[in-house]
Amino acid sequence: MEIYIFQIGSIERKFLERIRRSIEEAFPTCACRILENILQMPEEAYNPIRRQYKSEPILKKTLDYALKIEGETGGPCILLGIVDVDIYAHGMNFIFGEAQCPGRAAIISLYRLRPEFYGEQPNEQLFIERSIKEAMHEIGHAFGLVHCSNPLCVMHFSLHIGMTDRKQPEFCGNCLAELKHNMGKRKGLIHTIEDASF
Ligand SMILES: [Zn+2]
Ligand SMILES: [Zn+2]
Repeated sequence: MEIYIFQIGSIERKFLERIRRSIEEAFPTCACRILENILQMPEEAYNPIRRQYKSEPILKKTLDYALKIEGETGGPCILLGIVDVDIYAHGMNFIFGEAQCPGRAAIISLYRLRPEFYGEQPNEQLFIERSIKEAMHEIGHAFGLVHCSNPLCVMHFSLHIGMTDRKQPEFCGNCLAELKHNMGKRKGLIHTIEDASF
């Protein structure tokens, strides 16, 4: 199984590399690569009234790209699209990310992961830690993991950034066992899971 990371819009390469390395450590049977292509944000995603981007067309674009890559390589893959704009889903003020569960497509937004967003001092290390947790979480969904009740597990639902900070960049024992079980055989109905706050 290959995991690919790619940018929708522009993201600093060094952040992508940090996320890539952590994903490879978290999913040791997978190879994680950064795709050189930078995809354009789908125009229809922007909502000028909310000044935010709807997640659905972004996830759809990620899925289309995943299917194209699977067609070219002949192997199964999961794609993580990374955006640096504020995204939302229907009925939610914002989301940190969204994924098919299980499926091929996952997205995260870096927009609300910077301390500056909350009026705090810039902290690159904290920003990267948050990005890694969100990336692991959404890829976990793509492998069929649902939300975990353990507040320290990376699969715990984040209602706000404080909950992301509380989580560890690790799967709890239960989620890890489930992940190993799911990694071999990917099956089940595909639905999407959003990580958000109301
Ligand atoms: Zn867990
Ligand atoms: Zn989630």
